[in-house]
Amino acid sequence: MSILPAPPSPIQLLDLAAEHAALQPALNEALQATLAEAAFIQGPAVQRFAAELGEYLGGTHVVPCANGTDALTLALMALDLPAGAEVIIPAFTYVATLEAAALLGLKPVLVDVLPGTFNIDPAAVEAALTPRTGAIMAVHLFGQCADLEALRAIATRHGVPLIEDNAQAIGASFRFASGETSYAGAVGAIGTTSFFPSKNLGALGDGGALLTRDPARAQLLYQLANHGQSRKYHHQRIGLNSRLDTLQAALLRVKLMRLPANTAARRAVAARYDAALAALPGLRIPARDERSTHVFHQYTLQIADGRRDELQQYLKQCGVPTMIYYPLPVHAQPAYEYLGYRTGQFPVAERLCREVLSLPIHPLLTGEQQEYIVERIHSFSN
Ligand SMILES: *Cc1c(COP(=O)(O)O)cnc(C)c1O
Repeated sequence: MSILPAPPSPIQLLDLAAEHAALQPALNEALQATLAEAAFIQGPAVQRFAAELGEYLGGTHVVPCANGTDALTLALMALDLPAGAEVIIPAFTYVATLEAAALLGLKPVLVDVLPGTFNIDPAAVEAALTPRTGAIMAVHLFGQCADLEALRAIATRHGVPLIEDNAQAIGASFRFASGETSYAGAVGAIGTTSFFPSKNLGALGDGGALLTRDPARAQLLYQLANHGQSRKYHHQRIGLNSRLDTLQAALLRVKLMRLPANTAARRAVAARYDAALAALPGLRIPARDERSTHVFHQYTLQIADGRRDELQQYLKQCGVPTMIYYPLPVHAQPAYEYLGYRTGQFPVAERLCREVLSLPIHPLLTGEQQEYIVERIHSFSN
């Protein structure tokens, strides 16, 4: 048996311990301040964090909530759709996008994605519209905006609200043909995001938020996330108990300060992968949409000819962890069998599930580690 090489230092998909170690004094201070104030629910840090994130995202309203899945649920609740209304959703996404619609008694209508960017195919959205369509949910997958130009035009033309699931693309922006530039999540009627620890802006636990440019809608979302109350013990609507903990908000304020530098670091890692891997046969690097910036929540290759699993196994043996987002398209999940979709209906999503492989891309990945990863991929391909 041949001896496999080993990395210069242990490589992780994500190194949260090291990221947090560098921020420890500020994180400690946030924790101590929260303990001292003892306002654990709706404490002052929540509004401060919401204001700071809103400013970072070009002046949008931010309504914090308990997690990114609740954010999707709250977004749909705010639209007041009739029971059974159809919600158009990409077939290649994290299950939460679908879950929110299904739980509310709405009908998920899946459409295929584009083979280059992994994002929802606007032509497929247009073809899926019916008089019963209540919303279009786009997901900015892996850190790059879906085709917001086309999606916004379709939404406007048909009077159907666009929801942007921005759990993976916080801080990405999109340039419209008009020259106007907007942040992901601030284009449609409502945007949502997640502060799950592994997201680009991660809490030390669960967290999420809704984004909207409309102050009245922000007010409504705020109510919905707080038992539908307009003031304490006065309930206008059936809502949720879905709040961002004060402690998480305080910690997120610290982490938000690092977000621009971390995004820049992710982009630098991606640029090095691009340069090193673009010419390799049998493998496709992530396609860039020139109108969108990319925040590289994931750096995702496509590996053809059934060799994806083999490459993943080889890298694992060489000490390089990788992940498959996502191994099964949502229509193939047992929970969503009731929707009645069949294998073959979303060929791009189905192929991506067989071909995608995400490489380590965290802000603290060293040049040496990355060189090692690239060398291993080259030696596999040759
Ligand atoms: C993470 C994620 C969510 C869900 O966020 P949670 O905070 O884990 O509930 C929803 N959609 C997408 C695309 C995600 O990546």
